[in-house]
Amino acid sequence: MSPQLIVRVLPSIVALAVATACASRPSDPLSYELVGSTMGTRYVVKVIVGDGAGGADGDDGGSEAALRELIETELELVDRLMSTYREDSELSRFNRHADVTPFVVSDATFEVLAEAERISTWTDGAFDITVGPLVEAWGFGAAPAAQPPSDDELEGLRQRIGFATLRLDAAALTVRKTELRVEGDLSAIAKGYAVDRVAEALEAAGFPRYMVEVGGEVRAGGLNAEAAPWRIAIEQPDAASFQSIVPLTDAAMATSGDYRSFYEWEGRRISHTIDPRTGRPVEHALASVTVVSGRCVTADALATALSVLGPDEGYRFAVANDVAALMLTRRADGGFEEQSTPAFQRLLDDAGVR
Ligand code: FAD
Repeated sequence: MSPQLIVRVLPSIVALAVATACASRPSDPLSYELVGSTMGTRYVVKVIVGDGAGGADGDDGGSEAALRELIETELELVDRLMSTYREDSELSRFNRHADVTPFVVSDATFEVLAEAERISTWTDGAFDITVGPLVEAWGFGAAPAAQPPSDDELEGLRQRIGFATLRLDAAALTVRKTELRVEGDLSAIAKGYAVDRVAEALEAAGFPRYMVEVGGEVRAGGLNAEAAPWRIAIEQPDAASFQSIVPLTDAAMATSGDYRSFYEWEGRRISHTIDPRTGRPVEHALASVTVVSGRCVTADALATALSVLGPDEGYRFAVANDVAALMLTRRADGGFEEQSTPAFQRLLDDAGVR
């Protein structure tokens, strides 16, 4: 099957807090649900605007139009800066910058690059935003690929990647390439960052109680309309059912998996998660990793890193670093082995879930 026929559909976390797909309506006098499209996927934002939450008395900060404006301003900024699907984005212009001179970037892009570098160093390169050329070659980028790369092509592509080929300068807000053909891909971290920007913009506008989801990455602030933690479901891979419901308050959650964006080639599942150490899509049985963290940008990147490390190495890393993670590994009988780290278990215990 050609890689163009990639299954790329709904996000891997379903926010139970969201009941309907309507554009936006006060789902009760105290809150709004706003739904829209962004970054090739969708966003769902639920905001509690009653109970004294929301802007100064009398202003329209809590109106649907004002909230939608606030949300879409943040999402458009991230898309305009960090998309590899827009020729004019800051990231696309950096990728075309075939020069050793430093490239000036915006504060927002620098913040994401710095977090990406931190996670890359922490996971010994399992997370690596310079996988861009490999992502394209395996058919998961903006331009479809006719077939997977040959071993020779792969050897050439591997010369062009490695997070250590980027040099960040925080004082000058620049990034420099030491390998001119390096191309960045922020798909595994920038959606999480976009969630954080919307969440922090809502908080700054006086709305501390919200659930923000972009393409399966989620951040919840405060309590929901029933004055309880937001209930976020983790889907069971390959099935239309839930594996687990996670209570979330003032935290973020992201899932990476091999069951939403993949294709079959010569009888093998080709996942969109690339192991930078081999240049190939991961081939282990880990189907989905969910990470809970304070910020969504971190949860998003860590979920991909653990997906690369796999069920054993990834679980050991998460336990050793006290990362709250839940991993679902395919069993031979078609079911899933669930493994959650002690930090994830504490989260559920503290919420009285298990
Ligand atoms: P995640 O697991 O979160 O990330 C997987 C992605 O990360 C892979 O697809 C690959 O790109 C990259 N990756 C793979 N391996 C690694 C690794 N080892 N280290 C680091 N990164 C790795 N899609 C569209 O179809 N149309 C659009 O217009 C569009 N615009 C976008 C704009 C922005 C700003 C961003 C960030 C993404 C955009 N996307 C678009 C892509 C889409 O939104 C998702 O990012 C993509 O489907 C993967 O997200 P995920 O959560 O499913 O996977």
